[in-house]
Amino acid sequence: MWVYLNDRIVQANRARVSVFDRGYLYGEGVFETVRIHDGRPAWLERHLARLADSCRQIRMPVPEKNWPAIVQRVIDKNRVDHALIRLTLSRGPASPGTREFTIPDAGPTVVLFPRPLPHVTRSQRRKGVGITFVTVRRPSLRSYAAHAKTLNYLNNLLAKREAEERSAFEGLMLTTGGHLAECSMSNLFFIRDKTLYTPSLACGVLPGITRGVVLEMAPTLGLQTREGRYRPEVLYEADECFLTSSGVGILPVATIDGHPFPKQTSRSWVATLHTRYEHLLRAQSR
Ligand code: PLP
Repeated sequence: MWVYLNDRIVQANRARVSVFDRGYLYGEGVFETVRIHDGRPAWLERHLARLADSCRQIRMPVPEKNWPAIVQRVIDKNRVDHALIRLTLSRGPASPGTREFTIPDAGPTVVLFPRPLPHVTRSQRRKGVGITFVTVRRPSLRSYAAHAKTLNYLNNLLAKREAEERSAFEGLMLTTGGHLAECSMSNLFFIRDKTLYTPSLACGVLPGITRGVVLEMAPTLGLQTREGRYRPEVLYEADECFLTSSGVGILPVATIDGHPFPKQTSRSWVATLHTRYEHLLRAQSR
């Protein structure tokens, strides 16, 4: 595998970052995971806009670079058609011996490399996955830059591990106030009576790129959309439920802690949304 590291493309085993890098020491940095379809990045401008916004939230400048050209270079060098590209930007290494919180003048560390798409079986894609409520809570908007996609991912990893321990595909986190938030690596949607619901950004959820695409396309298919604060029990009255992320796209949820969603069929709204999403994804790579 070839890795882009600070303006150079190097073999993975030669891609080294300093132990003084503040991304490593403090999680001071941001990242993006971009879907690659047919060798082209999907919704790249939106990812770059979120990257800039994440940087603004953690008070870190975005280096001036031709990002689309760099992403394409990594795709071409690695000859990947269907994958993800992970783009990581950290504050960079402070010189050894400088004080803890001195802003390093070496500049940021920029790393890009490809990743395989998450493993989703055909049956999971058709019938849906099982998810579970986890004890990990999504931190409140007031506690830190919750809308930034930062390198501080421990909370999400803990939620994912908890889900895996219960053989669930994803772990659903609540807000500190006990409302629905999002899963460890995906946003949550549910449908009832021709209305599509999703927790609002005020719940501290990540402004997912796929979430945004779904909210834009749903009204064109005849679904009303609502973003709000929802108690967990409302999920038990939903007809259908699904997850979104750049990795899984639109993925139906069959059960939450064993409770099934009654209208999860091949002619469901989720299936319609999925078909439309795949169409838009293909259009992105033209
Ligand atoms: N929520 C969290 C916590 C995530 O980590 C991700 C993606 O990694 C998402 C939602 C989905 O975001 P996107 O659609 O931009 O991939």
